[in-house]
Amino acid sequence: DRRWAKAMEIVKEMQEKCGTPIWKLKQVADAMVVEMHAGLASEGGSKLKMLISYVDNLPSGDEKGLFYALDLGGTNFRVMRVQLGGKDGGLVNQEFTEVSIPPNLMIGTSDALFDYIAAELAKFIAQEGQEFDLPPGKQRELGFTFSFPVMQTSIASGTLVRWTKGFSIDDAVGQDVVAELTRAMKRQGLDMRVSALVNDTVGTLAGGKYSYKDVVAAVILGTGSNAAYVEHAQAIPKWHGDLPKSGEMVINMEWGNFRSSHLPLTEYDHAMDNESLNPGEQIFEKLISGMYLGEIVRRVLLKMAEEAAFFGDIVPPKLKIPFILRTPDLSAMHHDTSSDLILVEKKLKDILEISNASLQTRKVVVELCNIVATRGSRLAAAGILGILKKIGRDTVKDMDEQKTVIAMDGGLFEHYSEYSKCLENTLNELLGEEVSKTISIEHANDGSGIGAALLAASHSLYL
Ligand code: ADP
Ligand code: MG
Repeated sequence: DRRWAKAMEIVKEMQEKCGTPIWKLKQVADAMVVEMHAGLASEGGSKLKMLISYVDNLPSGDEKGLFYALDLGGTNFRVMRVQLGGKDGGLVNQEFTEVSIPPNLMIGTSDALFDYIAAELAKFIAQEGQEFDLPPGKQRELGFTFSFPVMQTSIASGTLVRWTKGFSIDDAVGQDVVAELTRAMKRQGLDMRVSALVNDTVGTLAGGKYSYKDVVAAVILGTGSNAAYVEHAQAIPKWHGDLPKSGEMVINMEWGNFRSSHLPLTEYDHAMDNESLNPGEQIFEKLISGMYLGEIVRRVLLKMAEEAAFFGDIVPPKLKIPFILRTPDLSAMHHDTSSDLILVEKKLKDILEISNASLQTRKVVVELCNIVATRGSRLAAAGILGILKKIGRDTVKDMDEQKTVIAMDGGLFEHYSEYSKCLENTLNELLGEEVSKTISIEHANDGSGIGAALLAASHSLYL
């Protein structure tokens, strides 16, 4: 009928506006390369901050000893204890706890957040056995993975540029996050030293390198999204320090803040951005990462409910609640293989209190999940192509020798298989058959935590 036709019109328009043909993805990749150059040329030269990580050596595999890691992401944080075995010893032991961050702490004060983190860390250490006691006078050492943009001043210090992903703690911006954590640990009576401050992408790169020697870049697709890669030190005009011996420097791109006129943005994206905690920022992240995909679909469904009575005469009240539809729900519906889409029915009922959706309606819901996830994953693939182009790995010089590994992590990539499959297929399509054979994407599970511990080890006071 007329309403259905109107609803289909909205879906069709969404489909068209979200289109990511290969030529467009290539434009996005090229724009990414241009911005990478600009961000490396001067501070503030681009939306891409291209932050210098002070990591000029990735793990060698010889790291040895007991180290801790703290990983503050977007929704959870983890405390890890890692026992590194040294040359040929590998990862001897690894234990962790994961705690979710209470939402009120994401928008409170710096002290409140860091006190909470330090208290969890203290709890973890209070519970460990005597075998982990250190000799008197020796401090425990920690790698701190902090997944927000930080302007580093050394391997173990840096000031917070701004928050992303639903965090907004004004008094922390501009502060040295290591100093903040160190003070909070003191308040807890915890004797620990932060040896390395790393972005999660840099941690994943380091952790990935430990398992795959050909790792050149790391990408996170979780609550947010970001990437890091190994750059030639001479290719960083804004770096005025001594050139590192290795000749290399890991760059934290902060690619979430990328934006370009080539990005396929819809009215729903603009509205979501306008109403977000950080309007105008993190536009690429808002298209591709886990925090936002569900919310985009909710907004389209709401419009269909309001303008085409898609769920009946009344607009389901729950559908008006921002972020009620989360990306894990999206992936659950998208992965529903039952012929009558019972999982979709259950999700609609449980989350949105919609109980009378026909099979036809449920199919349209799945189609919307597909449209939004496909756009996100294909754009993420374009971002990766940008990195490969920047470092000259988008062509093959030596078919037998050349091998390129990209370390990936994050809950979105790990759990949303339609998304990760589409990303890999798109990257292959962009690169062509021959180059694709030289490139592999590896899931570096816990990479950022292990990587932070490895970097704490290579920057230990007790070497
Ligand atoms: P963070 O990004 O907060 O450090 P993770 O890497 O674990 O943490 O990613 C968590 C994010 O991954 C969630 O916010 C969610 O967006 C996404 N995610 C988790 N589980 C799933 C799932 N089953 N399907 C799709 N996305 C998921
Ligand atoms: Mg994380």
